[in-house]
Amino acid sequence: MADVWMNQKYDRNDWWNMKKERRERNFRILEFRENQYDIIGDVHGCYEELIQLVEQLGYRKENGIYIHPQKRRLISVGDVADKGPANVACLNFWMDQVMTNGGFWVHGNHCNKLYRYFLGNRVRVSHGLECTVAELERMNKEERHNLRSRFMQCYESQCYYLLLDRKRLAVVHGGLQAESMGCFSGKIRAVCLYGETTGETDENGRPQRRNWAESYRGDTLVVYGHTVAERPDLINHTVDIDQGCVYGGYLTALRYPEMEFVQVKGKAYAPYRGDGKVPE
Ligand code: MN
Repeated sequence: MADVWMNQKYDRNDWWNMKKERRERNFRILEFRENQYDIIGDVHGCYEELIQLVEQLGYRKENGIYIHPQKRRLISVGDVADKGPANVACLNFWMDQVMTNGGFWVHGNHCNKLYRYFLGNRVRVSHGLECTVAELERMNKEERHNLRSRFMQCYESQCYYLLLDRKRLAVVHGGLQAESMGCFSGKIRAVCLYGETTGETDENGRPQRRNWAESYRGDTLVVYGHTVAERPDLINHTVDIDQGCVYGGYLTALRYPEMEFVQVKGKAYAPYRGDGKVPE
């Protein structure tokens, strides 16, 4: 594994780089000989669906960890926990994939919020975080402490976006424009976590989202999540693989480079209030 280039254009004034001297990676450009990835959309605590999906993808449990006989890697587009019924189980699953199985987990807005919660920052325990926190509160102090330190270590080992396969493949949570690839700034970070917004708010006071994929003109395939899309359609070399599993849609995996989609139907654990469309 060659960690070709990381932490470029590091801005020392960016508060998130300075926080308690903790180091957050911003992006990574990586090359692997195998170049075979199974990229999974927003899981949001849907553990049953996650296990069903990885089993369909050919992963088998060995010594408590799901591995693939052809050594394929699992990549999460982020938002592993919050809203769903088994958030801690999902966090543990992805921590195992990252720490012992060569997997990746780019930062989602919910993952970042949990990280800030664990840092002791004041965050609002809402938008599904209350489900994760309720599970944490049911654990004993030692278990909670262990989970927190494992999560912090795992989160800090991951980054906002990945460029893989000679920059033919990008994985990010919210969005990534072609000119942002290989760069980092506060604005790029915000797009990575939240996608592009118009600067306006809707009638519920939420920031209005802009479909950044419509103006994307890059050759790199960008695989992302964050916004619920009815289908994983390819739009200008981008594909949104969040089909709203936790709202009763689907949990989607993209097999790369085969470009095959594998889906598992989710149960409606949370009401959908976004502006996308949850598939039937
Ligand atoms: Mn999400």
